[in-house]
Amino acid sequence: MKVGFIGVGNMGGPMCRNIVKRSNHQVSVFDLNAAAVKTCTDLGATAAKSIADVTRGADVVMTSLPMPRDVEAVTLGDDGILANIGKGQTYIDLSTNAPSMVKKIGAAMAAKGIAMLDAPVSGGTVGAEAATIAIMVGGDKKVFDDALPVLQSFSANVIHMGELGTGTVAKLVNNMMAFCNAAAAAEGLMLGVTAGLDPQKLIQVVSSSSGNSNAFKSFSERALSGRLEPSFALNLAYKDLHLALELGDELGVPLPQGSSTHNLQRLARGMGHGPNDSSAILKVYESALGRTVKR
Ligand code: NAD
Repeated sequence: MKVGFIGVGNMGGPMCRNIVKRSNHQVSVFDLNAAAVKTCTDLGATAAKSIADVTRGADVVMTSLPMPRDVEAVTLGDDGILANIGKGQTYIDLSTNAPSMVKKIGAAMAAKGIAMLDAPVSGGTVGAEAATIAIMVGGDKKVFDDALPVLQSFSANVIHMGELGTGTVAKLVNNMMAFCNAAAAAEGLMLGVTAGLDPQKLIQVVSSSSGNSNAFKSFSERALSGRLEPSFALNLAYKDLHLALELGDELGVPLPQGSSTHNLQRLARGMGHGPNDSSAILKVYESALGRTVKR
């Protein structure tokens, strides 16, 4: 198949490179960041000059972009995907998008006879590199079945959730739970080290006890190293949690843990940590208490 890939950053980059490395699909790439494009063309992908260029002739066009407004601009904007895509081609959004935006873009595509899948992913940059990420997909089952050979080239862990938008809802639920776990980890680690515990021993205990989680694993590694460069930027995590809370509002579902975690993220952003890793929520506690988890 011919694959057009738009947005090859922290997540799109490894997913795109895995398609190149692990399949015979021909991949063409577009990103505003030339260095990001080069990481894919070095392995055999072709660099496209524009969204129009990457869209025309591809069987499947995929996006992995930061914000819903970015996906909107790239799909529905001037000379975007919609303006250049034709019958028989499929559009797949791998971004964590707003369910309402997924539906808006899906309706615009459908009006032109184009099928769309929402296929957000989870597992972080480590999972994206290792091709083990969960890909949760919404959209027509036949379109999903036809797209499987491309999706499975960057992870075997592909789940069809239901109609268009359901992949995105699953992703927002998952991420809300992961961020709440990370916020609990920040509180727990600060309590333990303030009481005088060795952070490494505390992390060793929790890792094999009932307080453990996937979020704790990556969060505690960051807490011990003090590293802040983004694997998953706080600004993106804040966006995801905002979207989950918006959905809760819409459906009348109370989300007290999600709301308090969102406020914690807001404090960390207020301290200037938006572009840093989402684990920077720990800095709120560390600066308030004048001590770090890292010794
Ligand atoms: P990123 O900022 O690292 O990458 C986004 C890429 O999109 C960048 O290379 C940027 O140059 C490119 N881009 C932005 N606007 C563009 C445009 N108009 N045209 C072409 N390229 C454009 O972000 P990321 O961490 O890779 O996240 C991408 C999506 O995946 C987000 O929706 C995020 O919420 C989601 N996600 C991220 C992670 C993670 O761990 N980083 C995990 C799961 C899901």
